[in-house]
Parts: sequence; structure tokens; C-alpha cells
Amino acid sequence: MAGQLLESTTLGFIGAGQMAEAIARGLDRATVLPASRMFAADVNAARCQVFKSFGVLICDSNIEVVQKANVLILAVKPQNVEKVLVGLKPHFTKEKLVVSIAAGINLSNLQKWAGDARIVRVMPNTPCLVGETAAAMSLGDTATEGDSVLVGAIFAAVGSIHLADEKLLNAVTGLSGSGPAYVYLAIEALADGGVAAGLPRDLSLSLAAQTVLGAAKMVVETKKHPGQLKDEVTSPAGTTIAGLRELEKAGFRSALIEAVVAAARRCEELS
Ligand code: NAD
Repeated sequence: MAGQLLESTTLGFIGAGQMAEAIARGLDRATVLPASRMFAADVNAARCQVFKSFGVLICDSNIEVVQKANVLILAVKPQNVEKVLVGLKPHFTKEKLVVSIAAGINLSNLQKWAGDARIVRVMPNTPCLVGETAAAMSLGDTATEGDSVLVGAIFAAVGSIHLADEKLLNAVTGLSGSGPAYVYLAIEALADGGVAAGLPRDLSLSLAAQTVLGAAKMVVETKKHPGQLKDEVTSPAGTTIAGLRELEKAGFRSALIEAVVAAARRCEELS
């Protein structure tokens, strides 16, 4: 289904940084949209080389990307978005769909700067690379139901995507946009704990990462509440409750809650 929908799609990356690379490589790996149907431009030649190395066609300018692709992923840093879009405005027609992944840049500004193009805002995260992104999208005024289906198919091919009201996107950024970094920190700390308890580093890191992956899969696949899953593995006076007690003492829940709220607030400040 996604494959059929994406068969006639050509994807252009305006900005070929880390997030763009995760999307491009993830789609190529998923084999629904090969790198040979992707175009990219970046002011940094080294980034163009990275994209070229896995088969993306490199353009001399952002304008050339707009001319060659029908769906454009706007993947420059938020502070560069206005300048880039205003420069491209004369080249945008109603046939072009711009997918902005820039944190905190709202649909009304994107539309003002992009003129005739249809706009969809998406907040993805880098696990696109391994087919496990958690993303949300909001549609601009002129975006169609078909655009929603198409952008949904692109990101569903590299994970999952939800349609959300635009006013929720700062919170999405604070949770899933920034969230992989919180989990990397947790994995690193769990591995340190394993080393402190006597495990070799490699074994400890592998166990920590697989434990996080397995626990996430349990929540997603069993659809049980995480509190229930926690209770099911916590026996009276056992080892797990001893560990949980330390986490509660150190304010583990509160630290995660405040991290998400602080990142969402920062996103709002930057908007
Ligand atoms: P990045 O710095 O890795 O990539 C940005 C790229 O844009 C760079 O390679 C830079 O050389 C290029 N660039 C700058 N000016 C340009 C121009 N005028 N024309 C063409 N290219 C230009 O940053 P990133 O982390 O990939 O973030 C890109 C966007 O993705 C941001 O707007 C960010 O808010 C959003 N985003 C990032 C993440 C993440 O986890 N990194 C998650 C969600 C959304």
C-alpha cells in the first residue's frame, strides 16, 4: 500500500544534515523509496558527499531540488528556515508539497514564506534510520487529504506517525523529538550501573540497550499499562523493588517529567 503510494514520489532534501540523513537512509533501507528517487542540496559539501555515498542525487542548489522533486523535506535548522523559504518562494507552485521538520516554526509563517506550496509540518526523530521513528504531523491550510496520506505513508515506512493539532507540536518535540537523547542517557547510565556491579563494559551496554528495547516492545505489543507491567515483575522484598525504591528516592519520574516539559517550553521560546 505504502509502496504503491510512494511509487510516483520524488523526494527532495533541502538541507542534508543528521535528521535528513536518518529519513533518507531509513526510507532507502525500507525499500519503499530508493535513494535513486531522492535529491538533496546542502551548503556544506561534506554533507552532500555523505548523501551521494548512499545513492542520493546531489543538486547544485536548493532551487534545483525544488525543480526535480515533488515532495520537499525542509531540513535546515529553524533559524535558517525563513531565509531559505523566501529565496525559494518564486520557484514554489501549487504542485509542490513542502514537509517542514524544523522545530518550532509554525504553519502560518511557513505558508507566508513559501507562498504557493502546500505545507505539512512533521516532528520526527532520528530512529527513522532504523525504522522506528515516533512522529507527529499537522497540515497547513492548503494541504489536502491526499497530502496527509502521502506524508503518513513516508513516515509510516520508517516508524509511526500521528496526525496532531499544531498546538501540540511543541510538546511532541519535548517528548519524542528530544526523547531519544534522554533514553541514550538512561542506557549509558544503566550500562555504568552494570559495570559498577561487576559486568564487562560491552556485555553491560548490550544488556542495557536490549532491556530498553524489550521493555518498549512489551508496552507497544502487549498494550498493557506500563504500571501493570512493572507490578508484574516486582515480587515482594525482591531485587526489582529494591532498585525501584532507589529510582523513586532519586526522583526518576520527576526528572523525566521535567525534562519533557523543559524541552517543550524551550521549543516554544524558540518559535
Ligand atoms: P543539522 O545541522 O545536522 O542539519 C542542517 C543542515 O542544513 C546542515 O547540514 C547545514 O549545512 C544545512 N544548511 C544550512 N543552511 C542551508 C541552506 N541555506 N541551504 C541548504 N542547506 C543548508 O541539523 P539537524 O539536527 O539535522 O536538524 C535539521 C532540522 O530537523 C532542524 O530544523 C531541527 O529542528 C529538525 N529536527 C531535528 C531532530 C534531531 O533529532 N536532530 C529531530 C526533529 C526535528
